Amino acid sequence: MSFSDWFRQDRLPHIYCAGCGNGTIINCTLDAIDKMGWTKEQTVFVSGIGCSSRAPGYILTDSLHTTHGRAIAFATGVKMANPALNVVVFTGDGDLAAIGGNHFIHACRRNIDLTVVCMNNQIYGMTGGQGSPTTPKGRISTTTPYGSAESSFDLCELAIAAGANYVARWTSYHVKELEKAVKVGLETPGFSFIEAMVQCPTNFGRRNKFKQVADQVEYIKTHALLKAKCDRMIEQGETVPGDMYIVGELVRRNRPAMGVKI
Ligand code: SF4
Repeated sequence: MSFSDWFRQDRLPHIYCAGCGNGTIINCTLDAIDKMGWTKEQTVFVSGIGCSSRAPGYILTDSLHTTHGRAIAFATGVKMANPALNVVVFTGDGDLAAIGGNHFIHACRRNIDLTVVCMNNQIYGMTGGQGSPTTPKGRISTTTPYGSAESSFDLCELAIAAGANYVARWTSYHVKELEKAVKVGLETPGFSFIEAMVQCPTNFGRRNKFKQVADQVEYIKTHALLKAKCDRMIEQGETVPGDMYIVGELVRRNRPAMGVKI
């Protein structure tokens, strides 16, 4: 089976804006799932609300498109009812870290056997460009017209601190690395969290002086800092700039997990 066999061709054209990074992340995830040899009957996708959360609608499996922020709560129910299923959650930064924040940290704490792929565009895309918990300080959104005054969440640090077994971050530029990270996440028992930094030209890019889609992708690429390099900088007493995305495998461990296949 090819990864394109997972697409529901009858649902095309999709709703994503030209240049949106979400499609890249869906492709990487489906490619990783295809390499796992999973069948459609064994696999369930769950999402909440937002641009990223439209993804399961384009995939030919059983899926749940749930209420805002509740994807992980629904996914937990699916997995605990039938641990034989492979359960994958697509989410975004607003859905996961704002209204869904408590579900996220407690699923990490319980270390439930789910794989969560978060498309982090640092803004609420679908609802019109409001600031989200990951909007960086100083960035413009409809709710922060003079620049966000708040510190943003580091979602990976949150997942690590709360107890997830596998945590990685890549970007829409790093497609091969991202696909590998999703595959490791799928293979790892317990809670796996993969964050993908993505461009949102419509709501983040045009408000933050990225004239072209390529400008935003270039920014994401040049602000990605490999974890190993970041560790070396810290060892040598150098300051890691606050606007860098630390990319790579950030944690892989074997804490006791819930909902693992027997
Ligand atoms: Fe993608 Fe942003 Fe358009 Fe949503 S609003 S589809 S995240 S570009």
